[in-house]
Amino acid sequence: MPSNATDASDKHAAPPLPEPLRVPVADSHTHLDMQSGTVEEGLAKAASVGVTTVVQVGCDVRGSQWAAETAARHDAVHATVALHPNEAPRIVHGDPDGWSRQGAREPGGAAALDEALAEIDRLAALPHVKGVGETGLDYFRTGPEGKEAQEASFRAHIEIAKRHGKALVIHDRDAHADVLRILKEEGAPERTVFHCYSGDAEMAQVCARAGYYMSFAGNVTFKNAQNLRDAVAVAPLELLLVETDAPFLTPAPYRGRPNAPYLIPITVRAMAAVRDIDEDALAAALGRNTAHAFGY
Ligand SMILES: [Zn+2]
Ligand SMILES: [Zn+2]
Repeated sequence: MPSNATDASDKHAAPPLPEPLRVPVADSHTHLDMQSGTVEEGLAKAASVGVTTVVQVGCDVRGSQWAAETAARHDAVHATVALHPNEAPRIVHGDPDGWSRQGAREPGGAAALDEALAEIDRLAALPHVKGVGETGLDYFRTGPEGKEAQEASFRAHIEIAKRHGKALVIHDRDAHADVLRILKEEGAPERTVFHCYSGDAEMAQVCARAGYYMSFAGNVTFKNAQNLRDAVAVAPLELLLVETDAPFLTPAPYRGRPNAPYLIPITVRAMAAVRDIDEDALAAALGRNTAHAFGY
């Protein structure tokens, strides 16, 4: 059905290019390996609207290897490497319904988790790898049976990030209190980023006191996300980041359509409106903050 494939009203079509930002920013968290088109096309499209840098995030061993290789090939790409919080329990217990591209997996036990972590540790030492993550806790997709493996993996990632002096990228879904507690128990790395920040204003103040970066995704534009806008309003400017988490979380009014780094300007404008500050001033801060957070 080729005739409708590029129709603007097509619910699955890529959203149009937003008006370019005048001051360049970085997409602090994206998954280019899950988006359509080539890396070169995605980067060119993003750069055309002022998104000149992206942080490519690994979620499993293969994806982390790919992130490191892609960052080595492109100046505009920095990599982070990790086993996603939903990946660690799957390595230990197996999961026939896994969302991973590798699909079903035989249970490998604790030894398999150790082996995977050893590869993440090796990758974390590479110069193009600027962070360890996304790691953390996800109580939405992982049930009680996976909690132990998830927590062990999170603690191991914190240790790896600190030993290599890299940023830590946190995935926190329905697990705010436990994520904050474990960070405190282990001692957070100097640079810690809450990706797809999902707390409220009160938690933003806790993060601010700890010096954690808060990275906001397209869901900050969603009607039901007042808690996120409240957090954007109170977070210190120097701790704010922006991300797509593409292909997920496409900002309004394109919710449900494929997301990609070139849509960052929409989220930047939404954040600027919430804080009632100039778009250029916010973009400058976001660009600076992302470079600080990831040390590039
Ligand atoms: Zn995540
Ligand atoms: Zn992600």
